[in-house]
Amino acid sequence: MRRKVIAGNWKMNMLPNEAMNFINALAERQGQEKTCEVILCVPYTDLFYSLLTAQNTPIKIGAQNMHWEERGAYTGEIAPEMLQCINVQYVIIGHSERRQYFAETDETVNKKVKAALAHELTPILCVGETLKQKEVGLAEEVITKQVELALGGLIAKQVEEVIIAYEPIWAIGTGKVATKEDANDAIKQIRNKIADLYGEETAQNVTILYGGSVNGKNAKELFSTSDIDGALVGGASLKVGEFEEIIKSI
Ligand code: PEP
Repeated sequence: MRRKVIAGNWKMNMLPNEAMNFINALAERQGQEKTCEVILCVPYTDLFYSLLTAQNTPIKIGAQNMHWEERGAYTGEIAPEMLQCINVQYVIIGHSERRQYFAETDETVNKKVKAALAHELTPILCVGETLKQKEVGLAEEVITKQVELALGGLIAKQVEEVIIAYEPIWAIGTGKVATKEDANDAIKQIRNKIADLYGEETAQNVTILYGGSVNGKNAKELFSTSDIDGALVGGASLKVGEFEEIIKSI
């Protein structure tokens, strides 16, 4: 059985007091119930508060980015060990907003994935095509290439530790969710690529999420498919009731 994951990406939202209130409210609603891994990827300034608040609850805390180097003259950056030493367990790598606005490339994404694993951080690796690429029939080529390059240099056992999020860019923050068939097909294409590169067993063991306008209403349908193992949720992860609905749908 593959692990099921619901991960929230708060992006540049939530002050520490809002983060703590959210986590307390979610923990209260959820109790110790654990149908899947529930992860909140919060801004750096919320990490410490969130980790303390989430102690003794099933909620896990992740970061949204990090540098790949150990230390050095990289003003404004955060090193893997800085996350590891405060017990952060997950980190989003290669989100489309970072690729688009902060010039992340497949090469830097690959370095970050390797650095995360070397520091016992689970990378939540994001891949996805633009609307234009989808319209000209390039989606499969784009997403499988992104996966291949991001995982380059890993061994099969390490690949199984990565959580992949298929996030078509045209669906992020737009309210346009992919159909369950399209999302499931894209995720199968990713699995097939991993099977080619690392073997069928690895492909069947790796957790792959869908992301892009998931909400409390459409989540159940998406999760009814064969290959979607959960969701990476942006906007709907900022509302505790809606996020809880998504968790309950898996
Ligand atoms: C995201 O930011 O990863 C995302 C999927 O956003 P949204 O759910 O708002 O589309």
